[in-house]
Amino acid sequence: MVDCKKKRIVIVGSGFAGLGMASRLLEKGIDDFVILEKSEGVGGTWRYNTYPGAECDIASMLYSFSFAPNPAWDFKWAKQPQILNYLEKFTNDRDLYSYIKFGEKVTDALYSNGRWDIKTKNGTIYNCQFFVSAIGQLHHPSVPNFKGKDRFLGNSFHSAEWDHSVKYEGKKIGVIGVGASAAQLIPELAKSAKKLVVYQRSPNWIINKHDRPYSSFEKWLAKKLPFLSKIYRLSLWCQGEFLIWPVIKGAKLRGSLVRRLNNLEIKKHVKNRDKASKLIPDYAVGAKRILLSDKYYKAIGQSNVTLETSTISRIGKRSVETISGNKHDHDIIVFATGFHTNPFLKEINVLGKSGFELKESWKDGAFAYLGVTTHKFPNMFMLYGPNTNTGHTSIIYKLEAQFEHILKLLSITGDGIIEVKDSVEKQYNAQAQKKLSRLAWSKIDASWYKDGGRVTNNWYGSSYEYNKRLRAPIVKNFMVTTSQIIQ
Ligand code: NAP
Repeated sequence: MVDCKKKRIVIVGSGFAGLGMASRLLEKGIDDFVILEKSEGVGGTWRYNTYPGAECDIASMLYSFSFAPNPAWDFKWAKQPQILNYLEKFTNDRDLYSYIKFGEKVTDALYSNGRWDIKTKNGTIYNCQFFVSAIGQLHHPSVPNFKGKDRFLGNSFHSAEWDHSVKYEGKKIGVIGVGASAAQLIPELAKSAKKLVVYQRSPNWIINKHDRPYSSFEKWLAKKLPFLSKIYRLSLWCQGEFLIWPVIKGAKLRGSLVRRLNNLEIKKHVKNRDKASKLIPDYAVGAKRILLSDKYYKAIGQSNVTLETSTISRIGKRSVETISGNKHDHDIIVFATGFHTNPFLKEINVLGKSGFELKESWKDGAFAYLGVTTHKFPNMFMLYGPNTNTGHTSIIYKLEAQFEHILKLLSITGDGIIEVKDSVEKQYNAQAQKKLSRLAWSKIDASWYKDGGRVTNNWYGSSYEYNKRLRAPIVKNFMVTTSQIIQ
């Protein structure tokens, strides 16, 4: 017999997005909701990414909820265990655990007559008025299908599926990929690996973090004088908004400053000229995420680290081979090769009005009005949805705007149905794509921000603009019926 439960709201995912949304619902007196989480704990990406050196590349005073400040961050950029701990404590402090069903992997979301049936792998159906997707953009590990990959006899795993039973000290390791995850794990592995080969397809623009631990006095100040933390948070936000965002818009002076800082660090740490020259990107600053690291180039400069830039031709039983004929022996291969970011909601079969498939709607790339709602899918809201990612500031700041947006849409809708108008969404999307085409992200052929030729993951403006638009929804842009057709 099918187990069917009724709720007003079903939230899928218990990372920053799902937990923050749930907390804001409770603050508004709405408690008829459930959070469905496929794993056995909260935290989302911060639960899965446990690779050595995992930490945040947005300063933690900004990469945390404004309504749950943490004066106890140990470092300016917190390490993964402390971020996970922050989310677990948040869940506990706000009594959210009792709203979460763990081990519930959502497989289908089916809309009919003003209600959604959210089906899980365990066979339970949650029937709800509102379906809120909080599943994030970066959680389906992508491992390229290298020839021979499955015949490798050593240990191999993706950076987001780190096998902690494998000791890497004194081993011959290959790391494939040099993105944000690799830039954090490579310095850690380089400390004790016998030999580390870094397989780089394209280098990144990297600037220093200038990370440091907070002193006990600073933590005391943050605790006793919270307004100081607020000012500090504002200053961090301003740095992203006024220093990095203009780089993505193409500001020449700031862009050349990033290039200069990058090249100086290479010169300082990588003495081998051939190696050093391979580390300089040939694409516009900001086209891919600008990485922050104090340790990456230092690690690459070490004598036990080889930078391999020839294309991988195959993986042997104990080696990786390249098209130029190089063969590197390995005990361990780490695939730091990123995530399948498109299509969004990849693993959920979402059917909207008249059984219309979300996959069909997004066959040329995902889109959504302000990243939250999409036509033909009434009463469905997305957190961190299409075109909402950022390359210069904290996603938590934007999530908070999305929480407020959704709360306003809920109050407008009451017991009824809300759906963004087709014409509004189309116009918004056309404008977004026009603006995105002028930004650095459009200046390269492929990245995880793009699907086909379109930028599908990132927002086209400053985070201030986004916040402003989200917090004041324009009611006439939606079709609202104030009572449901079928209860
Ligand atoms: P990523 O940035 O997509 O990097 C993937 C790497 O794998 C790239 O260097 C890519 O090369 C390489 N690659 C992919 N396929 C390959 C192939 N077939 N052969 C050779 N190389 C291949 O992935 P990520 O490092 O996991 O980071 C993804 C995002 O997660 C980041 O942009 C960031 O937003 C987020 N993240 C955040 C933090 C944080 O601190 N908050 C930490 C880690 C990650 P190409 O560049 O040539 O494609």
